[in-house]
Amino acid sequence: AEAQRFAVFGHPIAHSLSPEIHAAFAKQLGIRLEYTTVDAAPGEFDAAVRRFFADGGMGANITLPHKQAALALASEVSEAAQRTGVANTLTRLPGGGIAAHNTDAGGFVRDITERHGFDLRGHDALLLGAGGAAKAVAWALMDAGVQTLTIINRTPERADEIADAIGEPARCHTRYWDGLDGECFDLIVNATSIGVTGGDFDLPMSIVQDHSTAYDLCYGAAAAGFKGWALAAGVRPDWFRDGLGMLVEQAADAFERWHGQRPDTDPVYRELRQRY
Ligand code: NDP
Repeated sequence: AEAQRFAVFGHPIAHSLSPEIHAAFAKQLGIRLEYTTVDAAPGEFDAAVRRFFADGGMGANITLPHKQAALALASEVSEAAQRTGVANTLTRLPGGGIAAHNTDAGGFVRDITERHGFDLRGHDALLLGAGGAAKAVAWALMDAGVQTLTIINRTPERADEIADAIGEPARCHTRYWDGLDGECFDLIVNATSIGVTGGDFDLPMSIVQDHSTAYDLCYGAAAAGFKGWALAAGVRPDWFRDGLGMLVEQAADAFERWHGQRPDTDPVYRELRQRY
C-alpha cells in the first residue's frame, strides 16, 4: 500500500520537530507514512490545506501562525479545540470534510503528571499568558483539579476572557501582571511567547516557595529566560521543566487519532532531550 500522507503547516516551519517525532513513532509501530513540512504564508494557508486534503492527505499538524485559521476551516470541531479557539490537529473525515482538534491540553497534563510525576490536585497554580496555548493549559489545570488558578497576561482582558469562559470565580481568577505582591504558588507555568519574541519576566520573586515547580511551554534556547528568572527566584533546578515533553505528548495524541495506536513517547523524548 502507498504510504499515508501527513504534514505540518506553519510559517516559518523549517525548524519543526514534528516530522522527526512522527517518523520515530511510525518506525516504532511499523507504520508507513510520509510526513512533510509545508511553509504557508498567512494568505495562502486555507488554499494550501484544502489542496493537501483534496490530494489525499490524511492529517495535518498546525503551528504558528495558523492555529486559528485551522479551526475556522474545519467542518467538525472537538470540544478541546472549541474551548481553546485554536486547532493544532486536522484530520480528514470519511465524507471529505476536515475535523479540528487541539492536543495541547492533553499533552501538557500527561507530561507534567506522568513524565514528571507532579500531582496537580490541590495545588495553587499561576499561569502566564492568555494565547491559544495558555487557554489549553488553563482548562487542563482546572480539569486536573488544581485548588486555584491565577492567570496574568500582558493584555489583561484576554486573561479575563479565559477566566470568564471557565466560570468558576472561586477557583479561577485573574490578576494584573504587577499585582502579585503577597501571593505565592506551588506551580508557575509560562505559556507566553516571551522566550521566542523577547521580553522580561518582571515578577516578584516572593511568589516562589521552597517547593515551587516552574514549567515553561517553550524548550531549548527559548526557555532560557524563564528558567533564569525561576532559578533566581528560588525554584530548585530539578523542579524546572520545559515544554519538550509536552511537544512529544501532543504529537502522540495526534498520532493516535490518525493511526489508532498509541506510541511509546519515552524513547523519542529521551533522544530529543540529548539535543535540546
Ligand atoms: P500566542 O501568540 O497565541 O500567545 C502569546 C502569549 O504571549 C500572549 O499571552 C501574549 O500576550 C504573550 N506575550 C508575547 N510577547 C510578550 C511580551 N513581550 N511580554 C508579555 N507577554 C507577551 O502563542 P501560543 O499561545 O500559541 O504559544 C505560546 C508559547 O507556547 C509559544 O512560545 C509556543 O512556542 C509555546 N507552545 C509550546 C507547545 C509545546 O508543545 N511545548 C505547544 C503550544 C505552544 P498578549 O495577549 O498581551 O499579546
